[in-house]
Amino acid sequence: MKARLLRDMTAWPSAAFPVPWECSVCPAAGEGSLLTTCPGCQSPVRQGKAIQPKGTVLDGQDVFRLVQMGIAEAADDECRRRANRTPAQMVAASHAYTRTALGLHPEDFAAYEAQEMIGYNPDGSFIPGPAFTGGDEEVDEEEVDEQDHEN
Ligand SMILES: [Zn+2]
Repeated sequence: MKARLLRDMTAWPSAAFPVPWECSVCPAAGEGSLLTTCPGCQSPVRQGKAIQPKGTVLDGQDVFRLVQMGIAEAADDECRRRANRTPAQMVAASHAYTRTALGLHPEDFAAYEAQEMIGYNPDGSFIPGPAFTGGDEEVDEEEVDEQDHEN
């Protein structure tokens, strides 16, 4: 069955998603599937994760779970049947996943839903969202009006 990613998702390096690697000891380096030891000297290699971009169609027996988690949408009937989610449930799942991916504290869900914030800065303060009006600085009235028209 097939599902199409609704957002970028990290994955282990594979033939379909090759990732550069480099040996931690000798000068060997390359790009490809998941590699744990250097082909030359058997030392550990450094290799990052692959990014499967939004829109990638994944094929597998478990991809319906990604649909249920709100990470992907069904791309064939088998996946749609197996995921067994209404469009409204899909939207809710995707929304919940976004909140989780942002690491939002439940106490801040309301502020996020209102788009007053869209996440946290490294110091824990809010990253202001489109509807942000509070804070320490004076808000320009005209700017707020403009934002309201855009939304
Ligand atoms: Zn090596």
